[in-house]
Amino acid sequence: MADGAVRGRFAPSPSGRMHLGNLWSSLLAWLAARSQGGSMVLRLEDLDRDRCRQEYCDQVMRDLEWLGLDWDNEPVYQSRRTELYHQAFRTLEEQGLLYPCYCTRAERLAASAPHRSDGAAIYDGRCRRRTPEELAALARERAPAWRIQVDGAEIAVDDLLQGSICQRLDRDCGDFILRRSDGVYAYQLAVVVDDGEMGVTQVVRGSDLLDSTPRQVFLQRKLGLPQPVYGHVPLLLAPDGRRLAKRDRDQELGELRQRYTAPQLVGLLAHRAGLIPEYAPVTPQELVPLFSWTKLPAEDLVFSRL
Ligand code: GLU
Repeated sequence: MADGAVRGRFAPSPSGRMHLGNLWSSLLAWLAARSQGGSMVLRLEDLDRDRCRQEYCDQVMRDLEWLGLDWDNEPVYQSRRTELYHQAFRTLEEQGLLYPCYCTRAERLAASAPHRSDGAAIYDGRCRRRTPEELAALARERAPAWRIQVDGAEIAVDDLLQGSICQRLDRDCGDFILRRSDGVYAYQLAVVVDDGEMGVTQVVRGSDLLDSTPRQVFLQRKLGLPQPVYGHVPLLLAPDGRRLAKRDRDQELGELRQRYTAPQLVGLLAHRAGLIPEYAPVTPQELVPLFSWTKLPAEDLVFSRL
């Protein structure tokens, strides 16, 4: 990759068929990269072995292709990259930043400070204060999760669409988990390691992940990885205000592909994105010269049934 070249990414979680919301963020991520002459990589975020299946991975790729969204290089599967996450974990451990946490879910909730903006409890650091004797006794009982100490870190990120966001991590998110007690590495660690290792320079994704971004930038700094540019696109909401999810079967690609052609679906989304003044069927390729961050809405969009 040439210096200064843009590299974007698709990072779907293959736990079901893609829905309209996934398609929306995929289209915008692809346009943001291609409109700058950039490349695109595909990473299947399949660390949750209970929910992810190879058939869903295959389906995601077929659906992206059907829409006219392509990528460069071979697809990357997170489930095959444990060694990379382990190395990063060791790097952080060597810096003295990690500690084992034996709290059960119930204890975590009881021991939590006020909630984060995404509703998750802020861990109060209980396990960080345990004596060596307590830790030794707990270690005989069960395997720990591992957390990273955030202390007073203050992280500000300029988002292409949402403006500047700033978090003081101890107050706004708390020490967070990097490895679960069953040994699975957490999304936050995997995504940072992968974006760094894959040379991603531009992260375009749904604004539900805006709140995770300061944690990811914190990890990038601790691991000495470059910080990509971030653009968090608005979410698509159902008419009752809920965000579209995989359980909204009628907004799932299997259903949509029976009712629309790919250019019709892309045209509907492009119109809502402000890229075309009136609805018309269009291919992603035709939208490349029309893409601009300044046209996109920043607020979530209500989508009545297509
Ligand atoms: N795999 C995540 C999802 O499908 C996206 C992660 C990311 O873009 O950082 O919601």
